[in-house]
Amino acid sequence: MLNDDERQRIAGGRLFRQTKLESIEHLLENCERRSIKAGETLLAPDVANTFLFLVLAGELRVYVGNRNLPEHTVLGIGDCVGEMSLLDGQNPSAHVIASLDTTVLAIPHEMVWGMIDSSHGLARNLLTILAGRVRHDNLTLVTTQSRSLEFEEASSVDALTGLHNRRWMNDAFPRALRRCERDAAPLCLVMADIDHFKRFNDRHGHLAGDPVLRIVARAIAESLRPHDLVARHGGEEFAIMLPMAGIDDGMKVAERLRATVGQLRITLTNGGAEETITLSCGVAPFRLGDDLDKLIELADAALLLAKQGGRNRVVLSPERA
Ligand code: GH3
Ligand code: MG
Ligand code: MG
Repeated sequence: MLNDDERQRIAGGRLFRQTKLESIEHLLENCERRSIKAGETLLAPDVANTFLFLVLAGELRVYVGNRNLPEHTVLGIGDCVGEMSLLDGQNPSAHVIASLDTTVLAIPHEMVWGMIDSSHGLARNLLTILAGRVRHDNLTLVTTQSRSLEFEEASSVDALTGLHNRRWMNDAFPRALRRCERDAAPLCLVMADIDHFKRFNDRHGHLAGDPVLRIVARAIAESLRPHDLVARHGGEEFAIMLPMAGIDDGMKVAERLRATVGQLRITLTNGGAEETITLSCGVAPFRLGDDLDKLIELADAALLLAKQGGRNRVVLSPERA
């Protein structure tokens, strides 16, 4: 049974926009509700899917895994996923992973077809959603079956932030680095670290700190270009690799990340005032002969200078200035 809250969430989503929910609701009542813990996988390319999933609570991220960099889309309450397999009958070509503890309604594909038969509005909405996906993903969601190296194991994703973790970084970053080296293209590594985060935790509690990490992670991910790579390096520190970026571009991107994070307004759940946080970055431009360890060492040293210089700033590796 759907409760009022859930009905409202569903009605507010794109799939049921301007449809008569009453005419199809009786079908939804029989659908199974599934709980997915943060970090768990809902859809993966090697697993056939016969459901359309509707997000009732929480958040999912879609990773298109056939590129070196997982481009991701964030799906919230009322959004749906799994509609591609509905059309082409093939396995999903993306990974869909819960970034928060999430509840979805699993609507069997044959029931979706039934709904399409009985609701003109739903058919139209589904068409719009599909058109958007195809445009966004250059057909990769529809056509590719390639297995994603990055996602051979879900453990390459950090459960708290939904970003990739260090384990993935150690695999993906050197590959990107070698490619730039081969193409004689520039590249920068940025280490970004939240300022005085211990103080934030001490003041507001560790529990209040976790959403901040998620918000910052998302802000960073959304500020990057599609071919950039980002990972949670640990704690409140993020590693960002910028292929095709020389010193100027690298500094510009890092500066943009710093400014973006500084502008975030963080509302605490306990009703306290809005909080702000700042970010410090160290930037290390690649030079022939560098490996990932060397770049991390340089970026870390620059980050330390940013901290010593007063934080909330971007510092270029002095060895590469
Ligand atoms: P600095 O400006 O020098 O970076 O100061 P800082 O306090 O941010 O750095 P420090 O290394 O002293 O402390 C890092 C803090 O980050 C301490 C730790 O509690 C917090 N932290 C790391 N991981 C998590 C996490 O997953 N959740 C929360 N809430 N806090 C975390
Ligand atoms: Mg810090
Ligand atoms: Mg730190």
